[in-house]
Amino acid sequence: MTPQEKDRLVAEFATYAPHVDTALLDKAYDFSVRVHADQSRASGEHYFVHCQSVACSLVEWKMDLPTICAGLLHDTIEDTPTPQELLVAEFGEEITRLVLGVTKLDRLEYSSRDDVQAENWRKMLLATAQDIRVIIIKLADRLHNMKTLSFLSDEKRQRIAHETIALYAPLAHRLGMFQLKGELEDLSFRHLWPQEFADLESKVNALLATREVTLKQFKESVEQALASTDIAHRILSRTKSLYSIYGKMTRQDKPFEEIQDGLGVRIITDSVASCYALLGTVHTQFKPVAGSFTDYISIPKMNLYQSLHTTVMGPGGELVEIQIRTEDMHRTAEYGIAAHWRYKTGEHTKDTHLEEKLNWLRQWIEWLQDLKSPREFLDSLKTDLELNQVFVFTPAGDVKALPAGATPLDFAFAVHTDIGHACVGAHVNNKMVKLDYQLKSGDICKIQTKRGSMPKKDWLMYVKTARARSKIRHYLREKGIVA
Ligand code: MN
Repeated sequence: MTPQEKDRLVAEFATYAPHVDTALLDKAYDFSVRVHADQSRASGEHYFVHCQSVACSLVEWKMDLPTICAGLLHDTIEDTPTPQELLVAEFGEEITRLVLGVTKLDRLEYSSRDDVQAENWRKMLLATAQDIRVIIIKLADRLHNMKTLSFLSDEKRQRIAHETIALYAPLAHRLGMFQLKGELEDLSFRHLWPQEFADLESKVNALLATREVTLKQFKESVEQALASTDIAHRILSRTKSLYSIYGKMTRQDKPFEEIQDGLGVRIITDSVASCYALLGTVHTQFKPVAGSFTDYISIPKMNLYQSLHTTVMGPGGELVEIQIRTEDMHRTAEYGIAAHWRYKTGEHTKDTHLEEKLNWLRQWIEWLQDLKSPREFLDSLKTDLELNQVFVFTPAGDVKALPAGATPLDFAFAVHTDIGHACVGAHVNNKMVKLDYQLKSGDICKIQTKRGSMPKKDWLMYVKTARARSKIRHYLREKGIVA
């Protein structure tokens, strides 16, 4: 917390928000240093180092000025005698609201008992649904706490690491913040299963070393093919998080050596047109694996993710998984929802689609309000966290994204609650199907309705989405059919 460190933070912010006055940021920095002056962390470091680190993450995610100020101030109400009124007077309502939001989350008692935990989480999500920035500050806070976990007692480390892997990493996933998710998982993994972590880390490093040659050859071939064009691009090699590899080993019950994992490469370029042009170049240069191509640019994933995916035979005969995307898509892929707060350099318009993009998250939280028991909430959280999805078409050609395993009932409720309620049957690709039929991508689903027909109790066994489940339950409860 030297003057240079403050200048660096402010300068970093100014690179993506040159038109924003940074006086308040400067003030929040000094204020936080002052009120935390006589506090230290378990590491022995000055307490403010924690606040600064939170602010640095928020700047890295290119968050707006109030969020970064709130990041600097996030522990002032909780851990210092600073009165709320003083924060309002010095920094205004918006920043104070964000700080209070984070403080409220801090006060939620954690219990290892699932039900209580889930209930707290539900409250937290509902309380903060108004402003997702509170959750993003909380995630930055958790990230730094995880990085400094080794200074705590064994029992505390286990508890915090468990909480992080069970709740915060899935939340980051849900928000599309994949880089953060991987980081939180690996930090937890290291503390929860130190031996396994160390083993896997050394094996992965050894493998990466052998793959470097293949990667270099691949890069050179792509460069060569592109030499005559002027398509801007950079190639990044993709490394999976250790925990995701460990998850694969456990799920498939196989040792590391038997896990088939292709070499991953990302090509980042300047425009959508360049993405397709690069895809063409790659496919002319290397033989694509049949059926491996997916176009998430024209049909983005539910969490806003966009990219072209393809797998080709590399120069040495190895399979190479390739993702091609623009810089913008890359930011969304790495930072998810946080990417949408970015200031557009040189543009004064706000992201007009932000509301639309956030809609799915708000809706999701809204559906959760209808779920009565914590167990139900936890289950739906788990289901909705699955990003595997199918795309199903209405007869009119509208596309609905649904989780894998979704049925015509899920589809009906996704189209409209009234259609869901009055559903009596379904046709998929012009054939009659049962209501528990599992929809596949590309299916055209037509719902048959009958006026006056109403939801049945056994429908609850056939639905996969939180939305359909909550609508059906709501109705059954109203009629007194279920408690
Ligand atoms: Mn904190």
